[in-house]
Amino acid sequence: MTDHTITVAGTAVDTRHWIGGERVASAETFTDVSPIDQSAIGEISRGTATEAAAAVAAAKAAFPGWAATTWTERARILHAVADGVEKRLEDLAIVETTDNGALLRSHRRGVMPRVAHNFRFFADWLLRLDHDDFETRGHTNHVSWDPAGPCVLITPWNAPLMLATWKVAPALAAGNTVILKPAEWSPLTASLLADIAAEAGLPAGVLNVVQGYGAEVGSALVSHPDVRRISFTGSVPTAKRIAESAAANLTPLSLELGGKSPLLVFADADLDLATDLAVEQYDNAGQVCLAATRILVEESVADEFTRRFVEKAARLDQGDPRDEATDIGPNIHARQLEKIDGFVQRAVAAGARAVIGGHRKDGLYYAPTLLTDVAQDSEIVQEEVFGPVLTLQTFSDEEEAVRLANDTRFGLAATVATGDRERADRVTAQLVAGTVWVNCFFVRDLQAPFGGSRHSGVGREGGTWSFDFYCDLKNTVTAPKGWKDHG
Ligand code: NAD
Repeated sequence: MTDHTITVAGTAVDTRHWIGGERVASAETFTDVSPIDQSAIGEISRGTATEAAAAVAAAKAAFPGWAATTWTERARILHAVADGVEKRLEDLAIVETTDNGALLRSHRRGVMPRVAHNFRFFADWLLRLDHDDFETRGHTNHVSWDPAGPCVLITPWNAPLMLATWKVAPALAAGNTVILKPAEWSPLTASLLADIAAEAGLPAGVLNVVQGYGAEVGSALVSHPDVRRISFTGSVPTAKRIAESAAANLTPLSLELGGKSPLLVFADADLDLATDLAVEQYDNAGQVCLAATRILVEESVADEFTRRFVEKAARLDQGDPRDEATDIGPNIHARQLEKIDGFVQRAVAAGARAVIGGHRKDGLYYAPTLLTDVAQDSEIVQEEVFGPVLTLQTFSDEEEAVRLANDTRFGLAATVATGDRERADRVTAQLVAGTVWVNCFFVRDLQAPFGGSRHSGVGREGGTWSFDFYCDLKNTVTAPKGWKDHG
């Protein structure tokens, strides 16, 4: 064991970058802390512009070889990566839970199988891509999905490996090389992914992982002129900074950002289902971009809805995310907890009432909170909290429901609970959101376009939309044999 390897719940994790098929250490490190008990997990290499440049150079050098690989060979290697993820599922699950505090049971049963599926899905989708051939006055048009080049992928901490591989898999399938920069609060599983990919036979330099702070190594990556795509998932302020850097090089961008999504509950809804959907919004301690954090309930059922909601929320078990029985774990970091509590206390000072919660608990745990008596233009209704904090407002008719639902600067998702199919059609048609769920939540198919409107994002990924983004589409027009243009 070297100084650069730490052991996390029995699993060895290399704390260095992975550049050009080699482990590279930085002179400086940063401390990775577990949100479960705020203990130090280890010292991670703190990348700078030097490592960013080295990673882009490695990705650039590996690009021609990987781009020339046949589609079936690329797909075979991506399936081998998926096999590796499945083989190391337990390691990945416990390391991720230790690192970001999300539930071990969801990592085991939902998230890590989905990580493997990300690779399988995009490998298979690549082989199904249409390559259009059509004719123009005897000439053949051939549309090809050309790889774009080195892609910088920047990801957040709330679902680290899941969100990273949702980008890594299509980027690689398309024939690009990748520089992945995971969030500094959850750097570990990206390092394990580098090991898994190398074992699966991914050539050196095709996937690079660079660790460190966004303002240091992240900003150096997104401003590098040799980068051909940037895909970012994270907050709006960071997205604006990245967009400015990308603009200097005209680097195409995909941005998946925050949300303040509504859950609309109509009086004709199955109230048991509606309250289940509402309580589900506390999943991952509320650190879910898609979370429907604004509950909008039709006046006539608001009291009954609230009664049932409170009863169900009281049954949630909050505690150590490694315990099978736990429903809600800690929030990621002391700074995030501070932010969450700041939002809640300012809302209460402005007249909001905490029906449940409204306070911190020990460590990094925040009591699941429901706030009522909130004004539509207040901070708590308009801004993303990214913690277990929901607001409840009422509406008197469909028109008001839609108006309140659409009245933020975001447009990531929306959920509608109603027993009336026609109402569902009318309402969903008017909602501004990248994804709308009717009487369900969080059902996501990789074939579907995914992204947000307004400040929730730019562009869509998923299925063919991912290949649209990660490829340079080319149309080649070939004249028929013996053809001569006589003007
Ligand atoms: P963040 O914007 O603070 O950080 C995200 C990533 O960007 C990190 O890896 C960080 O190091 C990096 N970064 C920071 N500054 C940078 C810079 N100047 N240049 C390049 N990279 C930089 O976001 P966060 O707090 O880690 O994540 C939470 C946010 O992510 C929430 O707003 C949430 O809604 C959003 N999110 C969106 C989706 C989605 O699919 N729409 C999914 C998950 C999370």
